[in-house]
Amino acid sequence: MIRFKKLEDKAILHSPLKDFELDFQPVEYRQDPISHLTTFVRTGRAFWAGIYKTDDALLEKLARETQDKCFFCPDKVATATPRFPADFIPEGRLTRGEATIFPNLFAQKEYSAIVAITKKHHLKLDEFQPDLLYDAFKLAVLYLHRAYEIGGAKYAEIGCNYLYPGGASIMHPHIQVIASHGAHYLIDIYIEKGKEHYERYCQNYWEELIKKEKRLGERYLGKIGSTEWFTPFAPIREDEVNALVWGKSNFLEFDDSDWQSLADGLCRVLKYYYDQGFSCFNYAIYSGPLGQKLSFLWAGAKIVSRTSVQPYPVSDNWYSSNILLDGFITEPPEEVAKALRTYFA
Ligand SMILES: [Zn+2]
Repeated sequence: MIRFKKLEDKAILHSPLKDFELDFQPVEYRQDPISHLTTFVRTGRAFWAGIYKTDDALLEKLARETQDKCFFCPDKVATATPRFPADFIPEGRLTRGEATIFPNLFAQKEYSAIVAITKKHHLKLDEFQPDLLYDAFKLAVLYLHRAYEIGGAKYAEIGCNYLYPGGASIMHPHIQVIASHGAHYLIDIYIEKGKEHYERYCQNYWEELIKKEKRLGERYLGKIGSTEWFTPFAPIREDEVNALVWGKSNFLEFDDSDWQSLADGLCRVLKYYYDQGFSCFNYAIYSGPLGQKLSFLWAGAKIVSRTSVQPYPVSDNWYSSNILLDGFITEPPEEVAKALRTYFA
């Protein structure tokens, strides 16, 4: 049994935008059915949509100014980036297609690697191709296999912070590949609540969720190979899209078609973000404990848009999300799904 809990309310004011007439603005509070994390849908959609758009001239200037010193561009990535210890990966660094994996110079966790995914210093969001991401994911999963086999790493993540407003310190397109012995907060919640749901209803929560989303048709986007794509009922951030890998709880169970499908779906979402005028994003591909088949958990991915490159950057993160841990969005997920559905046709 899955319940989408929502509270609809309104804010009242005399608005100068309407000759100070009495104005009613709809606001909504939503709760994620499994994590119980809360989010609110704020007003001012047209206002915020304008603020988050990209300054293309500034973006090109940043790309030009940072290219010469870039350690992830082809000549330096093969000579100046860190190397893995020989007993971990004998070659020091690995390449596949345009992608190269090497250790993060400043480790985030016990196992922290970077994949520079392309030879190009900058890609616009419509220039990300599934093959580029697939090669990067194949290197990532090889690294995670080693972290599991050699170090017994239990938890793993593959993620991307794109451009400075998205949290990246280097402009060149790259992803993070991280493994450790410590669980992520959200994964811990998914394991705990997923298990509770399974014991109570004898059904995997995520399988039930996908069936329900398909039936409702408001947020479901489509199926790519073994992956299911939808906008979540209570998104944490703007333009959030979720993917689930059917019937698999951890990265070590994924096969090539799973990684291909994730690469394909992420590129479709990025194309949509590009068409909206955005230039920055975050995604995370998450996994249950490595090497453990959990029937009550499905692994997946989440992608969100971020504030674009702009001369006067307005962050899309503020105290509400940073400290009070509320999600907030401007565009309801049902509206995002409506616009995105054609990209999954
Ligand atoms: Zn570069």
